[in-house]
Amino acid sequence: MKRRLFALLLVLLLSAAASAGADRYAEVFDVSGDAGALTLRFLWLGPQTQEDKPGDCMIITSPEGKVMVLDAGHPQAVDYVTQALDAMGVTRIDYLVASHPHIDHIGGFPTLMERYEIGALYTSPLTYEKSSYYRAYMDAAAAHGIERIVLSEGDSFMFGEQVRVEVFNPPAEIDYPEDYPTGATQFINNQSLALKLTCGESTVMLAGDLYTGGEKAVVERWGEALDCDLLKANHHGAGTSSSSTWRNAVSPKITCITSDTLEDLNIARKYTRDGQQMYHTLMDGCIRVRTAGDGQYDVLTQKDRATTLFD
Ligand SMILES: [Zn+2]
Repeated sequence: MKRRLFALLLVLLLSAAASAGADRYAEVFDVSGDAGALTLRFLWLGPQTQEDKPGDCMIITSPEGKVMVLDAGHPQAVDYVTQALDAMGVTRIDYLVASHPHIDHIGGFPTLMERYEIGALYTSPLTYEKSSYYRAYMDAAAAHGIERIVLSEGDSFMFGEQVRVEVFNPPAEIDYPEDYPTGATQFINNQSLALKLTCGESTVMLAGDLYTGGEKAVVERWGEALDCDLLKANHHGAGTSSSSTWRNAVSPKITCITSDTLEDLNIARKYTRDGQQMYHTLMDGCIRVRTAGDGQYDVLTQKDRATTLFD
């Protein structure tokens, strides 16, 4: 209880600190410098206004301007997603990707399918028919005639002409627990798509909400292939995830944590050790990372960070 209270106070303090000073929202979503680069935008999806997390959304553009949206947050956070897409002038999402079918990841999909032209929907093989949000986005995809492409480990595809996407999780055959989906939160998170983007010498790992058990299983199967420069911390930077096994395998230089709260200070600090850079949407707002494919990364944050807690 004391720990929770401390965490809450910390979040309030950090939020207050983060809201002061500069606001570079327009710069973060200005696409004029995107041509020729792989650009990732990690969205801050607003404060927690419901029981669920606001979730994850990443808008990724390829060097020639193809658009990928990986997850689209909670339904209540979707305005943050459309605001960002509209600021970028996006009218077509070429690749709409669902890491896994939890509400804080696919909740915004029906709205996106309504508002934007969608090239194709990319999902894992995992089904979750008991969830009305899962059914809602599947129904919306069918209603709009959107092709669904099912990805599983070992698959790869091109995102535009220069970015290769490799899939390291989940396996093609999902081994569902007997009483699925009862009590299956962890199971579903562990079936998250694990995607590695490679653009020249630049590499990115995006693996949804993997827990430590899922991380270990992926590392056992794929080992050194997981090595990447840029990482989104699994499961919003929570202590359920970011095992040393995973961190050592990916060995990121830069980590982005996408959360409206500080899930676990220890995890955040692990990503600042040994000269690693860590960005956090709670403290930094929306984050833009751009690379020309040369293994160098240019990071721009919406806000100035007003804490040295992680240094
Ligand atoms: Zn999540």
